[in-house]
Order: sequence, then structure tokens, then C-alpha cells
Amino acid sequence: MAQHYDLICIGGGSGGIATARRAAGYGAKVAVIEQSRLGGTCVNVGCVPKKVMWNAAHTAELMERAGDFGFETGPVALDWSTLRERRAAYIERLNGIYGTNLDKSGVDLYRGQARFVECRTLEVDGERIAADHVVIATGGRPVWPRIPGAELGIDSDGFFELTEQPGRVAVVGAGYIAVELAGLLHQLGSDTRLVIRHEEPLRSFDPIIREAYMASTQVSGLEVVTHARPESLERGADGRLTLHVGDDRRLEGLDTVIWAIGREANVDSLGLEDIDLHRDHNGHIPVDQWQCTAVEGVYAIGDITGRFQLTPVAIAAGRRLSDRLFGGKPERYLEYRNIPSVVFTHPPIGTVGLTEDEARDEYGEAVRTHEARFVPMDFALGETKYRSAMKLVTVGDEERIVGVHLFGVGSDEMLQGFAVAVRMGATKADFDDTVAIHPTAAEELVTMG
Ligand SMILES: Cc1cc2nc3c(=O)[nH]c(=O)nc-3n(C[C@H](O)[C@H](O)[C@H](O)COP(=O)(O)OP(=O)(O)OC[C@H]3O[C@@H](n4cnc5c(N)ncnc54)[C@H](O)[C@@H]3O)c2cc1C
Repeated sequence: MAQHYDLICIGGGSGGIATARRAAGYGAKVAVIEQSRLGGTCVNVGCVPKKVMWNAAHTAELMERAGDFGFETGPVALDWSTLRERRAAYIERLNGIYGTNLDKSGVDLYRGQARFVECRTLEVDGERIAADHVVIATGGRPVWPRIPGAELGIDSDGFFELTEQPGRVAVVGAGYIAVELAGLLHQLGSDTRLVIRHEEPLRSFDPIIREAYMASTQVSGLEVVTHARPESLERGADGRLTLHVGDDRRLEGLDTVIWAIGREANVDSLGLEDIDLHRDHNGHIPVDQWQCTAVEGVYAIGDITGRFQLTPVAIAAGRRLSDRLFGGKPERYLEYRNIPSVVFTHPPIGTVGLTEDEARDEYGEAVRTHEARFVPMDFALGETKYRSAMKLVTVGDEERIVGVHLFGVGSDEMLQGFAVAVRMGATKADFDDTVAIHPTAAEELVTMG
């Protein structure tokens, strides 16, 4: 007979592990099935290695500006392999910690690829296990373009495998992963261009963010190739790549082309068709507010659901589900609103709540906005001046804040506290009544006219 559990989580990434450990904390008998390294996308090929690279790039940026403060500076070289090795060692430590934590929580770990054989029975490596509740948390993977020569490029997973720093590189894509990879490569000294289909990247962001980001590329010198539609990629006799981007335009002499054009759901091997679980038009698994799929006892969380594809979202949805199923908290669910997120560009972007357009769609004439644009003190002594931009989107006579959009130094660390305020329903008057912290960039948010 198949080993029986209260809960099985398919996927040992951000969502699966958080769901499993919370359930086990309530005394449930839990298993996690993972086909690859523990920690999933975030730990192995996502947030964590990306942030390490951003930190390296940020350090390079600070060294570049050290002369503004009177430091003697000279050329400094980056040893890519040292950075790569140290990053890998850090991730390996995290993989180990995830394993130990599962163990400590009493969660059984099955190594292998899970496949549904019945609604709540799974097969993994020839073994069958069953549960009262099954959570699908299998995440996503990068999408590749269907153009001739696409295989000569790499995706974001491949970026983290690069053994040498690319000299001349094109990053194709307009989402946050593309702008992050392009930004850090540029800052680390690679000759980088960001290749986008339209006039600006980050199209789902508030216009103030797009405008400030584009202005920052003028300061940094990061080349943005606009209105480009990749048609083919080819390797010349010299080993260099040429990317054809339409209208007889081409980018030549590239060492590396990185596809960052989107992500798709990881479902191929799951056998969803055998349990009649259908996907939406984007290939994601539809769920209701309780994370329930159309099949009883089967839930989905995280990237596989296609909503706010961020680690803390997967974790929050999973923990709330376990609170509900095993913790005696029947009303717990994740409200997919006011979810803060940061884009690690140089300088970074922080955003929570509605963009101005979204707010106008929802609240019409009741929307008012407040903006600030300024050069933060970080750049007071030098020639390089990255401007910051901030926007508050408010609604109604009481001017409840429904959106905060930040671009500029410190936005990444600034946003979390403001996200709490937005979630609590803070108004513009609450912001104005809060005493400023001086001299900071954040004070602009509570001193806006
Ligand atoms: C380059 C990059 C940068 C990112 N940066 C950030 C960031 O800064 N901040 C942030 O919040 N988010 C970031 N993300 C997104 C974040 O990584 C994801 O939102 C998060 O990992 C989703 O968690 P998940 O549990 O849904 O899936 P995952 O973490 O992807 O975990 C899914 C797991 O399921 C396993 N799996 C799949 N199929 C099966 C199967 N059939 N059987 C067994 N196991 C299976 C996979 O091997 C994987 O380990 C980034 C992503 C990328 C790619």
C-alpha cells in the first residue's frame, strides 16, 4: 500500500518548503518531493544568486564614485571565477540549511520527479505515496524564443553558470529579470545592451518608474536597443554572435546573448491530464482565493499559479494554506493586493499597490497623485548624478494611499515599511504628519507637496 500523508508538496522551492514546514509545525504528517536542488528557483537560479551579483555590481558602482570623496582610485579588476565560486559555496550552504530544516521539522523528503497517478496519489521514482491534501508548487522555467539559432543564446539559468564574464553581451527582454541582468552586467564592466520590443521596458510599471529608469540609462551609459524584434541568432567564423533584430538591424560581435523574455509553468511531467486538471490560456494552474484547484484536495501555490511570481508570495500563500488546513484558522488566505516588490536595477526600483493607470481604472476621478524628483545627496560631490523619482497614488477626499512608486538609491530598503503603511490604509495626511528623517531620500515621501 502507498505510504499515506496528511500533506504532500510537489516542489521543494520557496512555496513547497514553506507550506510543508508550517503544516508539520501543526503536527501534520508531511512529505516534500523535489527533483532537483532544494530551495527551488529563488535559492539556486533566482533571487539569491541575482542579489549576490547585484551586491557585487553595487560595490563596483561605489568604487567608481569613491574618487568623488577624495579617495585615490585606480583600475580595479573583477575576478569572475572567485565571485562565482563564493556565490556557489553560499548557495550550497543554503541548500544544506533547507535540507536540515526539513529534517528538523519532521518532513519526509523524496528525491525525484513527481507524477499524479490518481487525484491524491503520486508516483516518484517508482514509489507511490498518497495524501489527503496535495500542493502543487512546481514553479516555472525560462521561455526561449522560437527563432533560428536561439540555442546559441542562454537563459537566466545559464547566466548563473557562466564561467567567464561576457565581454560584449545582449540581454533580450523587457521584464524585471532582463533589466536586472543587463544592469548588473553593465555595472560589472561588460559591454551590455538591453534589447526590447517597444520604446521602454517594464511596461506594467507606473510611467514615473519607466521614465526614471530610461533617464538613468543615459547616466550609466547602458545601451537600450528599442523597437527590436529578434529574428535570428548566428555564430560567425570568429565565434562571435550576431543578433538580427528586424528592419535589417543587427547587433554584432556579441560573446553572449541572454534570453529573458518570460517564464512558463513547470507542469510537463506532472500528468495533470490524468487527473483532469486543466490549465489556463497561459499554461498556469487556476486557483480560487483559497489556492484550491478544480480538483478536490489538490491546491496550487507560487509561480505555477501565474500570480505575483515572487518568493515571499509563494511562501505567504503556502503558509496561509497550511494555517487553514491544519492550524484551525479557516479564514486564512492570501490577499493578492498591496504586494511590494523591488527591481534590483542601479539604482533600484520599489513599488507597492496600484499604478496611476490601475487606480484610475478602479477609482476614476477620485485619484490624485503626488510626485517628487530630485538628486539624492549620495551624488552631491560628483559629476555622476542619478536622479530619484517618487510617486504617491491616492484615492478619495481622505487621500488614502493606494500606490507608492520609487526609483532611486535606497528604494529597495525603503519600501518595506511604507508597504506596511499602505496595507494599514494610511492617508496622505498620515504621511505628512510623520516626522521626516534627515538627511535621507526617504524623507521626500513624507514631505511631498
Ligand atoms: C533570475 C530570477 C530572479 C528572481 N529574483 C527574485 C527576487 O529578487 N525576489 C523575489 O521575490 N523573487 C524573485 N524571483 C522569483 C522567485 O524565484 C520565484 O517567484 C519563486 O522561486 C517561486 O517559488 P515556487 O515555490 O513557486 O517555485 P520554485 O522556487 O521554482 O520551486 C519549484 C520546485 O519544484 C521542483 N519541481 C518542478 N517539477 C517537479 C516535479 N514534477 N517533481 C518534483 N519536483 C518538481 C523544481 O525543481 C523546483 O525546485 C526571481 C526569479 C528569477 C528566475
